[in-house]
Amino acid sequence: MLEVIIIPVLSDNYIWLVHDDKSGETMVIDPAVSQPVLEEADKRGWKITQIWNTHWHPDHTGGNAEIKEATGCRISGPEAEKKRIPTLDVMVNGGDTLSMGDYVADVIDVPAHTAGHIAFHFASENIIFVGDTLFAMGCGRLFEGTPEQMYDNMQKLAALPDETVVYCAHEYTQSNGEYALVAEPENKAIEQRMRDVIAARSRGEYTVPTTIALEKATNPFMRAQSAEILAERRTAKDNF
Ligand code: ZN
Ligand code: FE
Repeated sequence: MLEVIIIPVLSDNYIWLVHDDKSGETMVIDPAVSQPVLEEADKRGWKITQIWNTHWHPDHTGGNAEIKEATGCRISGPEAEKKRIPTLDVMVNGGDTLSMGDYVADVIDVPAHTAGHIAFHFASENIIFVGDTLFAMGCGRLFEGTPEQMYDNMQKLAALPDETVVYCAHEYTQSNGEYALVAEPENKAIEQRMRDVIAARSRGEYTVPTTIALEKATNPFMRAQSAEILAERRTAKDNF
């Protein structure tokens, strides 16, 4: 089994440290910064062998160079963003695979937040790392893509098994939920989830990872019936 450790950094970023005991590999998803990641790995006696980036934004790649310098790890990320991630060693596209030890992840294209955004799906483990594409009760802003693309992304992710555990890159759940309550005022599952989220946050707990089942029940972007509805909701949330 892959072990996944959460490293909260900056104001609301989550870096994920992924470890495979058998091969001894340790991989970092989207290191915004280096120091807390190196410290966490050290503390556990793990040696970082890989970094995988979902997209070029500095709060997902800012730790690349220093972690590589400290560990000699290999960095993989989206070929479409290679110019904006100069530290990449391995460039991948949707349909490719990446591995750590015996574990293989499918690379899935999810453009819209950025033009080359990708996600990493370990189907055998029922886990996916989605960067800034899908959030708990939310989706990424459309900086370099269209509502149609984000709608397609939501459909692709919704088609994964319900029990898939979704690791996203930010703690945005409570503010997403406040908008979700307005987008779908009749949705009891959102009300219930928001009660849980508010309680968890008041105890200082994280609200991610989430699951595909939970997002299908409570995420107004995944639940949008068309690209038009997703577009309306995205604009409304941007101005919320
Ligand atoms: Zn981003
Ligand atoms: Fe981000």
